[in-house]
Amino acid sequence: MTSPIQQNMFDQLAERALFEQAKTYAYDYMDTVAERPVYPLPESLEKLTIFDEPVPAKAQSGEETLRLLHEIGSPATVAQTAGRYFGFVNGNAVPTAVAARWLTDVWDQNAALHVMSPIVAKLEQVCERWANQLLGLPSETAAGIVSGTSIATMCGLAAGRYALLSKVGWDVNGDGLFGAPPIRVVLSDQSHSTVFKALALLGLGRNRVELVPSDEQGRIDIDQMPELDSNTLLILQAGNVNSGAFDDFERACTLAQEAGAWVHIDGAFGLWAAASPDLRHLTQGIEKADSWSTDGHKTLNTPYDCAMVLCKDRSALVASMQATGAYIQYSDHRDNMLLTPDMSRRARAVELWATLRALGEDGLAEMLDGMCSAARLFAEKLSAAGFQVLNDVVFNQVMIAADSPEQTTAVLAGVQQSGECWCGGSQWHGEPVIRISVCSWATTAEDVDRSVQAFIAAKNKTS
Ligand SMILES: *Cc1c(COP(=O)(O)O)cnc(C)c1O
Repeated sequence: MTSPIQQNMFDQLAERALFEQAKTYAYDYMDTVAERPVYPLPESLEKLTIFDEPVPAKAQSGEETLRLLHEIGSPATVAQTAGRYFGFVNGNAVPTAVAARWLTDVWDQNAALHVMSPIVAKLEQVCERWANQLLGLPSETAAGIVSGTSIATMCGLAAGRYALLSKVGWDVNGDGLFGAPPIRVVLSDQSHSTVFKALALLGLGRNRVELVPSDEQGRIDIDQMPELDSNTLLILQAGNVNSGAFDDFERACTLAQEAGAWVHIDGAFGLWAAASPDLRHLTQGIEKADSWSTDGHKTLNTPYDCAMVLCKDRSALVASMQATGAYIQYSDHRDNMLLTPDMSRRARAVELWATLRALGEDGLAEMLDGMCSAARLFAEKLSAAGFQVLNDVVFNQVMIAADSPEQTTAVLAGVQQSGECWCGGSQWHGEPVIRISVCSWATTAEDVDRSVQAFIAAKNKTS
């Protein structure tokens, strides 16, 4: 006996029409995305009210659901995959990874335990080994595959909190922080907001920190860093979210090692510089840290949501992420949930593995170098067009200003409305700036040219 809803779903699987329809829509999107305005048009956004329907009382047709998603949803997407999107630090998934994700969507694996999915456990293990090698980290480093750097940073700091307190005989995982010996947190005033969020979640406090001033590029000023000790978590940054600047890891990590402090590096998009021979000088010394967080979905160009926490002391990470239950069946293999806060989750390691495999060591370096040369080209051309470039373009980030703060704000609005490209704004040393992040494998010199023209047109409109 099958119920009508069951029968309907069996039929959908057997007939495959839904899947063919999804494939056709996906190809349609891929074929047209480069011609679309980079940001959705106002009329496309207005149509989103169509989704404000009540919960359907009856089962709806799958075909109709997909049609709605493509006809109304696709035009309201941001054309991030076309090479002229420079907002935030948003990547663009490499094709092999997207295709691998399609396949594994059909697998619908739970990546929590080896017994739930031996293939995903295997791929997580391979990703761990590959990442350590590509990033030049100690080979014993453990990797937990998580949804983003926000979570990865929280995991790295949790491991550090545990390790520092264990040394003085306090089990923070068992006994919590109330009554625990105090630990210090030292970080720069340019740390990413998600670092402060992680500190808040971990009971370490957003405000209970020792803030170190940063230099004009946004690097931690080591000369102004307080004396470190063995109760200190020091948080460094590989890739300032505005300027792309890298802290001096060699010097800061050496000081931390001498003091017995724990170093965590937030390398959301910058850590991958270590994978390019031409960019590796930026990350010199990172291997001396204790934990690292990095995204797949930024400069590495995996699909969303994909990131890694890396931790030299595997036992500190595992101790901080442990969960027990009579029904949990740990194996002699890798059990992924021992390394992350979540339990059930999708097989995001597949895309990480597919991305790294599709690019290879050489391709990865070539892709990263390409992002950096496009960023330098932007800086050159915009400077020639009379804009100010406010940062040393060492990686993929460029900060631009026009002749006055008001003009900068007006140019940003003009560029965003142009549909030609999309950049975000930020503040730098108290003034508004336009922030260009080249973070897509697809960006070409022509894309840079066309975008620079949009900047010039927007500036001409203001005068
Ligand atoms: C993007 C970013 C984060 C947060 O990463 P998510 O993947 O969005 O959670 C943290 N730090 C830096 C430097 C970033 O660029």
